[in-house]
Amino acid sequence: MPVKKKAMKKAAKKATPSTTRKVSARAAPRRRVASLAEAPAPSFKITYATLAIPSDELHIRYEVALGKVRESLGETIPIMIGGQPRYTERTFEDRSPIDTDWLLGIFQRGTPQDVHDAVAAAKAVFPVWSRLPWDERVRILRRAADLISERAFEIAALMSLEVGKNRLEALGDVEETADLIRYYCDQMEANDGYIRPMKQESPKHHNRSVLKPYGVWVVISPFNFPFALAGGPAGAALLAGNTVVFKPASDTPYVGYKLYEIFRDAGVPDGAFNYITGSGSEVGDPLVLHPDVAGITFTGSYEVGMSIYRKVVASTKYPKPIILEMGGKNPVIISRHADLDRAALGCMRSAFGLQGQKCSAASRIYVERPVRDAFLEKFLDLTSKIRIGDPTQRDVFLGPVINRTAYEKFQRYMEILRRDGVVLFGGNVLTDGEFAKGYFVEPTVVDGLPPDHPLLQEEMFLPITCLVTVDSLEEAMRYANAVDYGLTAGFYSNDPQEIQLFFDHIEAGVTYVNRAAGATTGAWPGYQPFGGWKASGSTSRGSGGPYYLIQYLREQSQTVID
Ligand code: NAP
Repeated sequence: MPVKKKAMKKAAKKATPSTTRKVSARAAPRRRVASLAEAPAPSFKITYATLAIPSDELHIRYEVALGKVRESLGETIPIMIGGQPRYTERTFEDRSPIDTDWLLGIFQRGTPQDVHDAVAAAKAVFPVWSRLPWDERVRILRRAADLISERAFEIAALMSLEVGKNRLEALGDVEETADLIRYYCDQMEANDGYIRPMKQESPKHHNRSVLKPYGVWVVISPFNFPFALAGGPAGAALLAGNTVVFKPASDTPYVGYKLYEIFRDAGVPDGAFNYITGSGSEVGDPLVLHPDVAGITFTGSYEVGMSIYRKVVASTKYPKPIILEMGGKNPVIISRHADLDRAALGCMRSAFGLQGQKCSAASRIYVERPVRDAFLEKFLDLTSKIRIGDPTQRDVFLGPVINRTAYEKFQRYMEILRRDGVVLFGGNVLTDGEFAKGYFVEPTVVDGLPPDHPLLQEEMFLPITCLVTVDSLEEAMRYANAVDYGLTAGFYSNDPQEIQLFFDHIEAGVTYVNRAAGATTGAWPGYQPFGGWKASGSTSRGSGGPYYLIQYLREQSQTVID
């Protein structure tokens, strides 16, 4: 298969006009939806279904929100401790990866003293928040979820600018946050606040099991799902009765601040949710090592997650819960009995959605030899049609990667991949015209690496996927499992026995069979619990699933004798 440079150029050319065109040219429906966009609430709920076939109203609402967000950029945003704004001596700029001339905001570089004060504020309010009746916390958290849905378009527009996420992915991230919180509220109610009568030794014995919060909980989030992976864990921690100190990734502090505003406006009391910005070493380290911190949820890379784990275990006086959600190197296996159209679409979406910067991205594709060429033809055709550009634009699928480090990493990886494999598609950075001031790279497909190549083990976190041809499903399964990670995995086959073989052997926390919407990506709260095995996670209790919320609670057995 030759390098499809021509097709790539064609795809890039196609992307150019789409980035300057605001919306579709159909005038009549636009007028109708423009007025709908001014209505207080959308006429639909954002779900997978509405995102799969987005309406004109959805697009117009996003564009109106984007206009508003653009008008308010460039502000200085404080740290929030105990409900009070705090401005530090040193600040940092938050610039868009779409165009680094776009200054989104100026943020505070927190210090160890700020960390100490945030933990103290959270500790001070813990007795009040934790002793509220659980159904009162449910009411406040449900209000937070509703506020997220009300503000979804503004938050999504800001997220597109800050992360480089396309509009549908950004809306999905925001609405997923609301649904995570709603799901945990439902769980709390379904379990009567986790207060459960136990067996009685006699009529005079009254025994019960009560789940109670721990205390101050730290939430550290990554850049790629800056709302769902902050609001999900923070929502669960708060609902359980813990108080929270939250540190967003330094690439995405603004979306993190929007989460602070949501909890504040929903009625979470001052100090129960604190927001602190700054680097991993200056803020993250003192935060996770603080003796008054009772529990930690970290979502991010394996390297940082494991370093936190080791440091905390080495320094803590007694054990504390540490929920780590880390990286992935997610395989897709395509059987000779697969529907190749579905497989090609699912692989394209999961390899290149959010520029391959999802922990669940499909970064390895194992295809059986008899269907290799047919699959590849369809997969490369879909890849060549991807629109690259400013992800706030309607038809753009692939935006920029997050920052200069990622952009340079892409170039370093490509040197290795060109040396050791065959680049079937892409492989270049884009620097001309509208791409000149952002971090744009091509979606890239690589073939011919030896199955034990380091880049088939290491998470690259970029729009690069590698294809390996296999002679049997057993061989594919062996390779699929021969990595440290175990987050998501996909399989395509119409043979029920093969599907069972996949489920029996695959080592991953989230698995999908025959999914066109995404081979390895796209879990939704209440539908697919999301958590990793092996190096991908410490507890393997998926977020948005039935065993997640109880991780933020500890059991007390209570016996009273008349
Ligand atoms: P990252 O570099 O590991 O950073 C994650 C968070 O940790 C950021 O807020 C970062 O702050 C903070 N941090 C860095 N050093 C720290 C330290 N010494 N102590 C405490 N906190 C520290 O990850 P990322 O690049 O933002 O996100 C991408 C990674 O997250 C990928 O590996 C991806 O697979 C993983 N991820 C996993 C899941 C999952 O559910 N399993 C979901 C999404 C992403 P700064 O930004 O200030 O450095």
